[in-house]
Amino acid sequence: MRQFIAFAALLAATTLADAARKLNVVVILADDLGYADVGFNGCKDIPTPNIDSLAKHGVRCANGYVSHSFCSPTRAGLMTGRYQQRFGHENNPAYLPEDTKVGLPLSQATIADVLKSAGYVTGAIGKWHLGAAPCFHPNERGFMEYFGFLGGGHIYLPGMKGGPEYTVPLLRNKEPLELKDYVTDVLSAEAAAFVTRHKAEPFYLYVAYNAVHTPLQAPEKYLSRFAGITDERRRIYAAMTSAMDDGIGRVLAALRDNGIERDTMVWFFSDNGGPVETVAPTRNDPLRGNKGTLYEGGIRVPFVVQWRAGLPEGTVCEQPVISLDVLPTAAALAGAKLPASLKLDGVNITPHLKGEVKTPPHERLFWRMGGGASWAVREGRHKLVKPGKDATPQLFDLNNDIGEAKDLAGEKPGMVARLQAAFDAWNAELIPPIFEGPKPAAKKAKRAAKKK
Ligand code: CA
Repeated sequence: MRQFIAFAALLAATTLADAARKLNVVVILADDLGYADVGFNGCKDIPTPNIDSLAKHGVRCANGYVSHSFCSPTRAGLMTGRYQQRFGHENNPAYLPEDTKVGLPLSQATIADVLKSAGYVTGAIGKWHLGAAPCFHPNERGFMEYFGFLGGGHIYLPGMKGGPEYTVPLLRNKEPLELKDYVTDVLSAEAAAFVTRHKAEPFYLYVAYNAVHTPLQAPEKYLSRFAGITDERRRIYAAMTSAMDDGIGRVLAALRDNGIERDTMVWFFSDNGGPVETVAPTRNDPLRGNKGTLYEGGIRVPFVVQWRAGLPEGTVCEQPVISLDVLPTAAALAGAKLPASLKLDGVNITPHLKGEVKTPPHERLFWRMGGGASWAVREGRHKLVKPGKDATPQLFDLNNDIGEAKDLAGEKPGMVARLQAAFDAWNAELIPPIFEGPKPAAKKAKRAAKKK
């Protein structure tokens, strides 16, 4: 009897501790990973057991989107929970450490600001790509700890080739340090160490791999796993993907070993679709298009959420969700108070992930690129996409035609008009891009230098 009382007391104490414990949030972002390059989306030549384990123990979002079809704008949306075109972040920032205009506008609160205000320890690891000037540094944007590089990518191995932005030293907070090992392994080790270091307090950890973005670089220890892949570029890409998957396994093991796996919500998705063969040997099938387009191959990405104590395991959420939902979902679960001035586009999708709410979290989802040169809107099964500056909008029924092969615009003029009007109304709320992409910016600088 005495034993039973002791046990009951222990149980009560555990329950109390659990109730007091806040949920940790980990967001793992891949870079340029193809829709079909993970096991849970049917990949056959690259095993991704750790990424797949998230789907096995969590919720796979079959209609999981990002808010842009290339790197930096997607990150701006993820950081703020807002369509990034609302504040002009519609291009990749050039790597300009002196330019205080080219980066995530300081007017915008980040997910790290929000969770820090709720008592969370906040950390960012890996690719930043939200401005290289000191005012844009992660430590100035709510992240108490940072390890990574501020540009749009990095060489993977010491001494390997890459442009100036890709060969800068790594940073621990603001201190430069030399790259000594495969960068994917280095980032994974840092992420696992962060988990262990902060196991006793609620944390938000953002792990932004530059994998599997170019340059295609991998060491023999990963390449040797893919001797059977004869296409040399695909073989290197497979090795890079496999290294990232191992790294994600290390982070998950750290959560498990420290006894906090159940109380941690882990998100995994890619920042945009695969660039496909011209740039990197990725696969997006059965989706049409690729990185840089607003067809599904540019914006629908491998997307999973695991929270073992709170979400059903091995389920599929069919409702369209978007990377903008991370901030409001995390804030709600963390009990964070959002400033009244913060107008979010994302919503708390926990009830949808749980399968408790069957109506879609968003009436419509929108995309816009190049200040409006191309755009798309999705409502229910229908998507209207204007694929380029002089193109006519095309209408697709994604329930029947995930590959966007049959344009229904001629057959359904009413639906076209309705979605066009919805886009126009949303578009009227946006501002033009506040900075240009690296290529136009470089051209302008060249012209200015010539004039001098
Ligand atoms: Ca990317």
